Amino acid sequence: MNRSYNIQQLKSESFDLLIIGGGITGAGIALDAASRGLKTALVEKSDFASGTSSRSTKLIHGGLRYLKQLEFALVKEVGSERAIVHRLAPHLVVPEKMLLPLYEKRGLGYWLTSIGLKIYDWLAGVKEADQRRMLTRAQTLAHEPMLKTDDVKGGAIYAEYRTDDARLTIGIIKLAVSNGARICNYTEATDFIYDQERIVGIKASDKISKEDFEIKAITVVNAAGPWVDELRSLNHSKKGKQLHLTKGVHIVVPYHRLPVRQAIYFDVPDGRMIFAIPRGRTTYIGTTDTDYQGDKNHVVTTREDAHYLIQAVNETFPSALLTSADIESSWAGLRPLIHEEGKSASELSRKDEIFESNSGLISIAGGKLTGYRKMAERVVDKVIDRDFSDRDFPQCKTEELILPGGDFHEYADVKKLESELVSRLDALNLPGSEATNLVHLYGRQVLLILDHLEKNKTEHPECDLILAKAWFAIHYEMAISPLDFINRRSGLLYFNHPKISRWVQPVIDYFAAELQWSETEKIKQLGEVNQALKEIVNF
Ligand SMILES: Cc1cc2nc3c(=O)[nH]c(=O)nc-3n(C[C@H](O)[C@H](O)[C@H](O)COP(=O)(O)OP(=O)(O)OC[C@H]3O[C@@H](n4cnc5c(N)ncnc54)[C@H](O)[C@@H]3O)c2cc1C
Repeated sequence: MNRSYNIQQLKSESFDLLIIGGGITGAGIALDAASRGLKTALVEKSDFASGTSSRSTKLIHGGLRYLKQLEFALVKEVGSERAIVHRLAPHLVVPEKMLLPLYEKRGLGYWLTSIGLKIYDWLAGVKEADQRRMLTRAQTLAHEPMLKTDDVKGGAIYAEYRTDDARLTIGIIKLAVSNGARICNYTEATDFIYDQERIVGIKASDKISKEDFEIKAITVVNAAGPWVDELRSLNHSKKGKQLHLTKGVHIVVPYHRLPVRQAIYFDVPDGRMIFAIPRGRTTYIGTTDTDYQGDKNHVVTTREDAHYLIQAVNETFPSALLTSADIESSWAGLRPLIHEEGKSASELSRKDEIFESNSGLISIAGGKLTGYRKMAERVVDKVIDRDFSDRDFPQCKTEELILPGGDFHEYADVKKLESELVSRLDALNLPGSEATNLVHLYGRQVLLILDHLEKNKTEHPECDLILAKAWFAIHYEMAISPLDFINRRSGLLYFNHPKISRWVQPVIDYFAAELQWSETEKIKQLGEVNQALKEIVNF
């Protein structure tokens, strides 16, 4: 993950496949292609996962509501993928039992839900022990005493997985690099290069050095998420189906303000469904689903978005009495969906689709975080079929490629590592409760972070730990700025908001020392962090 080395390689080598976009879709394609032996490159115009892939509900889920829309194939594929992605990264994709309260006069009703969940489990091949369990009204209220009791008829518990979307994306990027891919963040594809009307590479711009250069590749894949149509326009191929962007917002409150006992998926009066998910010292709530035509590079939560979610929570959990003053942070993301005439934001399919232009550009849009592996397989199969049928490449093998830090025999070993860390953290004057979060985010890579911390400890253990994580982000994960670290490498921005102001300056000083920044650069970076901190609560 050495950025300057990778940039040199991008300039000097020619590639079989070049991918535009370092979200989960592009990352998955890069890993699939590189692991099959294609000479692969990827460019990301900002930081990895800075688009939609750090702004999701952070669930690896089968998409229960797609069953309502009768999308059986989609549910089967993403549902089955959950267990596979869990096996590839058991620390990062962790089982989460979801409570689904059922109501007298709204939602699907008790029996239809019971049958629906049975089909859901069956389509996804869920193990018997994890299959759905229907609950009586009393059992449902015992599971979640904060629920408004009035019209609760019963409930269901079913199995999903929760993750950290940005870390999952970065894990896949790292694995692609170790399989030979040349990958660079802050490198924008600004145009295509053609030879006899066929794409043979891209013009790229290094956003850090401001240098422009060309990258040669036999095949170019556009995995730019919400920006897919922009690149299709650049390629004069935005014809036929087009993207339909919808915005989804999440808000984060301190756990004690919405102490749900487990993740819960509940109906709201307008017929939509919303998650409330406990994560460490917080609970996050989402999401909205509204058409979006604004600036794709700057998507923020509005007062109306926050109000919608607060109201939904207060309707369902009347004792919560949430107000906007409880919101510690928020994030807003864009779903890059495929437009379907006459359908509203919530009705649009989440299926992925591949478009091919006359000049050879392959674009992929739609889909889910959860389905990244199968989407990648379809794209790479197409690339090989179309452009490399004269060469012998193996079938997709990502089902066997364990993500960095994920080499655990079974989930119990993840929990074992957590307990083993407690005494090590104690010796460093750090709370044992940190172990869960550390293992969740880094898996076995946490051992590198703790080794570094033990060699560099001072009298400020909490800050030492933050800086050890920053060290890891710079040296192992291509973090270029404090925001890359605070937001996408560590999750601190959204989930540790009260403490973050204490850590901002030491983190900036650390980055400045490691990356040899001038005073002017330090001030610029501080400005960017402060702007981000403001935006996540500024409504
Ligand atoms: C609110 C919300 C909640 C969601 N919840 C879930 C969930 O819980 N589970 C789930 O499975 N899915 C979920 N999804 C869907 C999932 O997050 C997306 O399908 C997925 O993240 C899309 O990834 P992507 O790589 O296609 O797009 P992105 O992550 O946006 O990546 C595209 C990348 O391309 C880069 N790019 C654009 N133009 C260029 C260029 N010219 N040069 C170089 N790079 C460029 C961008 O900077 C960006 O990083 C959710 C989506 C939203 C919005």
